[in-house]
Amino acid sequence: MTGTPHPAPRLLAEIASYHAHVYFDGPEQRGLAGWIRDRVAERFPVQLGRWHDKPVGPHHRPMYQIAFDVEIFPRLVPWMMINRQGLSVLVHPNTDSPYDDHLVHALWLGETLALNGDVLPRKLKAGEELIDPVVVNTAPTKNA
Ligand code: ZN
Repeated sequence: MTGTPHPAPRLLAEIASYHAHVYFDGPEQRGLAGWIRDRVAERFPVQLGRWHDKPVGPHHRPMYQIAFDVEIFPRLVPWMMINRQGLSVLVHPNTDSPYDDHLVHALWLGETLALNGDVLPRKLKAGEELIDPVVVNTAPTKNA
């Protein structure tokens, strides 16, 4: 082997939680986004964020956020894959690197959309808590 040594891998423990951002454009897609939101609420213990009908933060398109703990990922993300109704969904980890979380380490379901990375910190300072813990605000009763 030649060249520069590889860095040590980052640890899964660096991922505090995940977000899924469900984007919509126009009233028809907003309706589909609402359908997804209601079905998620019925099935998963997650934190549903407010509707953002205007672009906010790095997001150029209206959306809402679903925050969820790491153990929810293997059920929620596959569910979103087959139930996203054609909408674009950004799934990103929450670590101490918000820029990388959104622009380097994210995955997209459906169409990839542009993000404005300029508003995202490259690295949180030690002890800085920009990532709020997930506060579940759903009460699921249905099987996914
Ligand atoms: Zn997010």
